Amino acid sequence: MRRCDHMEHPKVSDKRSERVIFLSHCILNQNAKVRGIAAHPGAVVPLVQLLLEQGVGMYQMPCPEMAYLGNMRWGAVKDQYHNPMFRRHCRRLAEEVVDAVENYRQCGYQVLGFVMMDGSPVCGLNRTPRPKDPNVLWGGMAWYVPESVYAPGKGNFCEILQEELQRRGQGNLPFVASPEFDEVGTLDEALSQVKALLAGTGSRSDGR
Ligand code: SF4
Repeated sequence: MRRCDHMEHPKVSDKRSERVIFLSHCILNQNAKVRGIAAHPGAVVPLVQLLLEQGVGMYQMPCPEMAYLGNMRWGAVKDQYHNPMFRRHCRRLAEEVVDAVENYRQCGYQVLGFVMMDGSPVCGLNRTPRPKDPNVLWGGMAWYVPESVYAPGKGNFCEILQEELQRRGQGNLPFVASPEFDEVGTLDEALSQVKALLAGTGSRSDGR
């Protein structure tokens, strides 16, 4: 299909900024989170406020956990979701997200990048929960939960989303993350990262 970067619509203009950012679902809807870890009543207000002030459209990506297990789910480590069935589910969701990325860019919109959720086994970018003891197998009844740690690395959806972006020639977009807990980062750091991303100085998903 013909790309229309840098083209303008000849007849119709309106107030749109033609700037879009892609957000992990729970940045706009904390009700999607595992019960016990929502840090805000609704949205992550300081981050959303910043984007509102900048006139940036917010694309709310689907919540892979909600779409798989619903709201009545337990917290989990990355390893529990790291199975072919969940990752296929993530692939399907990622394909639709990248469809939107590709289409906005085909039509000349500026896709500013992605804001993920650090500390999540699914949407984590820099930190994700893993078993503290890699030799202990997880799963079983709810009264037995082994210890976990927040380890460096990406969650399952984040990995697959970046793979899909690369596969579709869209891998040059920056990724930053908001923290789920203070243990994995501060909101102030996240806001600085998002400001850098809005200024066009964020780091790219392909590491270049
Ligand atoms: S971090 Fe990702 S999987 Fe977890 S609640 Fe938010 S959107 Fe859903």
